Amino acid sequence: MSLRLVIIGGGPAGNSAATHAARLGARVTLIERDILGGAAHLWDCVPSKAMIATGAAWGEIRHADGMGIRTEHAGLDFESLRRRIDSIEDRLESSVRQLLESQGVRIVRGTGRLKGPHQVVAETAEGIEELEADAVVVATGSRPRIPDWAEVDSERVLTTRDAYPPSSLPEHLVVIGSGVTGVEFVHMFSSFGCEVTLIVSRQQVLPRKDPEVAAALEEDFLRRGVTLYKGARAVGVERTGDTVKVSCNDGRVAVGSHALLAIGPVPNSEGLGLVDAGVEMEDGYVRTVDHHLRTNVPHIYVAGDISGKLPLSSVAAMQGRKIAEHVMGLHVREHRHLDYEKAASAIFTDPEIADVGLGEADAFAEGRKVRVTKVPFAATAKALINNDPRGFVKIISDPATGQVLGGSIVGRHAAELISVIALAVTAGLRVTDIHESLLVHPALAEALAEAAE
Ligand SMILES: Cc1cc2nc3c(=O)[nH]c(=O)nc-3n(C[C@H](O)[C@H](O)[C@H](O)COP(=O)(O)OP(=O)(O)OC[C@H]3O[C@@H](n4cnc5c(N)ncnc54)[C@H](O)[C@@H]3O)c2cc1C
Repeated sequence: MSLRLVIIGGGPAGNSAATHAARLGARVTLIERDILGGAAHLWDCVPSKAMIATGAAWGEIRHADGMGIRTEHAGLDFESLRRRIDSIEDRLESSVRQLLESQGVRIVRGTGRLKGPHQVVAETAEGIEELEADAVVVATGSRPRIPDWAEVDSERVLTTRDAYPPSSLPEHLVVIGSGVTGVEFVHMFSSFGCEVTLIVSRQQVLPRKDPEVAAALEEDFLRRGVTLYKGARAVGVERTGDTVKVSCNDGRVAVGSHALLAIGPVPNSEGLGLVDAGVEMEDGYVRTVDHHLRTNVPHIYVAGDISGKLPLSSVAAMQGRKIAEHVMGLHVREHRHLDYEKAASAIFTDPEIADVGLGEADAFAEGRKVRVTKVPFAATAKALINNDPRGFVKIISDPATGQVLGGSIVGRHAAELISVIALAVTAGLRVTDIHESLLVHPALAEALAEAAE
C-alpha cells in the first residue's frame, strides 16, 4: 500500500511537498483553510509585487520624457489595480489546484490539526474528518508580527496585509522596519507619489546586506524625498483622528497620516496540536532535528516559514520538495541537501537588488580571502539604451581556484540576472565559466561576463 502523507497548509511549502510526493507515488491529502497558494499568493509575494509593478509602470510613464513619449493624460486607478490583483490571485490559485489535482492530491478545504502523532483532524464546512497518516508535513506559514506597543486598526495603523491596494493613498506613510519588506513598501508607496518616512533601527537600511548595496537604495530613497530616521527604534504608535504618531526610543516622533508595521513574521503554530503530538517547539517555531526538516517525532516534518529557516517562498517550495524526496526514500540516491547559504533573494525596489551566496562584507568579517570584481551597468550598451545606467554587478570568487562564491546585483532586472550567479554558486562553477559563455548583445548580462573576467 502506498504511503499516506497528510499536509497541513497549502502555501508554496505544502503545495510543493504535495505535488512531488504524489508524483513519487504517495497517497497525499492536503488540508488548506484559505487559498491554495497560501499567504504567498494572497498577502505577500503576489500582491506586493503587483503593486510594485504598477508603481514602476507609473514611474516610467512619469519619467518617459527622455524616451520621446507624451504622458499628460496618465493617472492611477486603484479599483482597476484591485481587480488586477484579484485576477492574478484567481489564476494562480486555479493553476495550483489543477497541478495538485493532476497529480491525484486530495484537497480538503478546512482547518487541520494533529490529534496524535499519526492522526490529523480536518474541520471542514461539512464536519470533522479524521485522517490516518504515515507521515505529516506541517506547512502553516506565518503572519505579520504585531508588537505589544502598537494597536493595528487596519485603517491608519496597518500591517502589510492591510495595504492591497489602499482605497485611497496615504498622504504620509510612516513605515516601521527597514528590512526587505519595509523597504519594498517604502518603494511602493513613494512610487505612487506618497510622502514616506522610514524608521531605520540601525545606521543603514537593510542591515544584513552589503553596505554598498544598501547605500544605492538609500540614495534612491533620498532622491525621492523619503525621510530616514536612522538609529531609531519605534516604541509606540498612537492614532488621534486622522493623525498617527510613531514614537522612537531616541525621543523623536514621526507624524504621518498612516503607519505600517513591517517588523517580521510570527509562525502560525498555535492550535495545531503539535506539543500534544510530542513535537518540540522553539520560540513559537517548530524545532527541526536534521536537514531533512524532521522534527523530533521522525515522521512529522515542517516546511516553509514555520520551520524558522529562511522565510522565502522559493525556499519554502524547495523545502517541500526535499521533504517529499525524503519521505519517499529518494534521499538515498539523487537527493542534494538544501543549502540555505546558497539561496538567491531579491528586493523589488528601484534599483532592484539581488544577491546570493557569500557577501563581500561577510567575507571581510570572516577574514576570508576573496576576489571581488565589480562592473557598473553604465559600461553596457543596453543600460544606455534603457535610459537607466544605474547599478552594478559584483562577483565574489575564490582567488586561488576562481570558484564563484557569491554575488550582488543592483539595477534593472537584478532578480532575473542573479540566476546566473546562483547557478554558478550551486554548481560550483568558476568565473571563467561565466566569462566564456557566449551571451547576448546588447544585454545587461554583459556586465556579468565583464565582472567574471
Ligand atoms: C509582504 C511580503 C512580501 C513577500 N515577498 C516575497 C517574495 O517576493 N519572494 C519570496 O520568495 N518570498 C516573499 N515573502 C515571503 C513568503 O511570502 C513566505 O516565505 C511564504 O509565503 C512561506 O510559504 P509557506 O508555505 O511557509 O506559508 P504560507 O504561504 O503562509 O502558506 C501557509 C498556508 O497554510 C494555511 N494554514 C495555516 N494554518 C492552517 C491550518 N491549521 N489548517 C489548514 N491550513 C492552514 C494558510 O491558510 C496558508 O494558505 C514575502 C513576505 C511578505 C510578508
